[in-house]
Amino acid sequence: MKLVQARWYHRGRISPIRLIVVHSMEWVERATTAEECAKMFATMNRQASAHACVDANSVVRCVRDQDTAWAAPGGNADGLQLELAGFARQTRAEWLDAYGKAMLDQAAAVIAGWSRAYKIPVKKLTQTELRAGKRGITSHADISAVYRRSDHTDPGTKFPWDELIDRVKAELDGADGGRDDVDVPDWKRTLSWPPTTKGDDVKTWQRQMRKRGWKLDVDGWYAGADAEVCWAFQEEKGLKVTGQVDEATWRAAWTAPIT
Ligand SMILES: [Zn+2]
Repeated sequence: MKLVQARWYHRGRISPIRLIVVHSMEWVERATTAEECAKMFATMNRQASAHACVDANSVVRCVRDQDTAWAAPGGNADGLQLELAGFARQTRAEWLDAYGKAMLDQAAAVIAGWSRAYKIPVKKLTQTELRAGKRGITSHADISAVYRRSDHTDPGTKFPWDELIDRVKAELDGADGGRDDVDVPDWKRTLSWPPTTKGDDVKTWQRQMRKRGWKLDVDGWYAGADAEVCWAFQEEKGLKVTGQVDEATWRAAWTAPIT
């Protein structure tokens, strides 16, 4: 996944992640729509952003999970914001044309990763549940209705939630939830930077990540370049994104499917 850092956002979070907020970009459906939207977030004067933009063939990250995007006032502090190619005025059939289905597949993969990483139930919240502070998936429209701090109604009343939720569930079911037939070397400690963790366990992890196709030196020093790789890997696998090799990240280096 590419990262094109948005211009406007808050560093860090004041509340733990609770919500996945779905938006429509109000942007024409093209192969490069996610890239175009990300570029807009990176350069525009209007103070808005989202964590990720999705079109039919790619996902572009704009704000890191651990930072706060500005997309849905009332649902920013504890939300992950996902922008989908399309318009809130679309009919169900338009959401479910060939482009729309491919886009929903991309969106489902992102949501599944977030759901796994932040223990967010794969459930579209009702407005009552949203107001009550429940965890789950919601829309900009419902954030507007409940918190009354914006008037956006995306992704619209005809958005196929059932199709999106089914895809997220399929993604989670189909994902390799941890193969037990693989020999995973013992995890001894968290590898982190800074300061640099040094040792043979760092080499073991570096060698394994090289096998998976990441570009790293096998030098036994866990430095900035290693933390970058770790961050991208955690992001890709829906792990908690810290840039540190914790036990789950170590295990995934041997057990997660290579994509
Ligand atoms: Zn929106």
